[in-house]
Amino acid sequence: MYYTDETIVFLNGEYVKAKDAKVGLYNQTMHYGNGVFEGIRSYETPDGTRIFKAKEHYDRLHYSADKMHISLRYSSEELEQITYRLLELNDLSDAYIRPLVYLGENMSLTPTDEVNVVIMVWEWGKYLGDKMLKVMLSSYQRPNPKACHVQAKVVGHYTNSILATTEAKQKGFDEALLTDINGNVAEGPGANFFFEKDGKLVTAPLGNILSGITRATVFELAQELGVEIEERFFKPEELLNADAAFFCGTAAEVIGIEQFNDYRFPMNWEDTNSYLVQRMYKRRVATNEYKHVYL
Ligand code: PMP
Repeated sequence: MYYTDETIVFLNGEYVKAKDAKVGLYNQTMHYGNGVFEGIRSYETPDGTRIFKAKEHYDRLHYSADKMHISLRYSSEELEQITYRLLELNDLSDAYIRPLVYLGENMSLTPTDEVNVVIMVWEWGKYLGDKMLKVMLSSYQRPNPKACHVQAKVVGHYTNSILATTEAKQKGFDEALLTDINGNVAEGPGANFFFEKDGKLVTAPLGNILSGITRATVFELAQELGVEIEERFFKPEELLNADAAFFCGTAAEVIGIEQFNDYRFPMNWEDTNSYLVQRMYKRRVATNEYKHVYL
């Protein structure tokens, strides 16, 4: 599903076939989850293939690596150039891009000097599909920000996401919504969350959530649309009075939520400001309206 016999990956300075790439069994990332990664998308635009917000993603990869004491020896600019080359080699335009920084052999609890960088690209439909979602309040909370760096995209953090999504699917929902350590709504397992009330959008502030690049884009789009956004803490009960809601993330893009637990959001999706944001996001990523800083 992710690769064929022909797929090329970037691995530590070389472009090699995915099927020939090897990873050691004793690497620390596999045993303890100490590695960092990104999830990026490229789109076909009238100007050719464009990676959406490559700098922001690769800067976040650096932030994540720094927080985990991992020295990443490629700059954001270099990683961006490598990614464009990799897309070309795989003849891909609309693609999902997965850079992963994984460590060398070490069973002790300190990072290794050996730092490996792999970048994989594949065609991937929207992560949560195209249909409006049914979401449940998770019994799991997002990790305590005093126990780890929640704004870093660390491999091991995703065990929390896997627990939440698996629970939701086992209960017949499409996805989970998690609270923070104080019981406020935080985010989804792999996407940020917004709700709409009386035309205004509300989302959790930074601190207990991943600082989503799509979330930041939603702020930009809402400003252009003249839609107000409030960043504040709120409890799950407040959603029972909301008009609409959505998740947003690079893989999922902007996807509407029709139901939270037993509650159905009352507004017709296409009449909401959330829908306008969804439409504008689609347009923004797939046109040349977004000028990349390096181009
Ligand atoms: N929260 C979590 C936990 C995520 O994994 C993601 C996906 N990276 C997001 C939010 C959305 O972030 P972005 O918009 O940068 O993809």
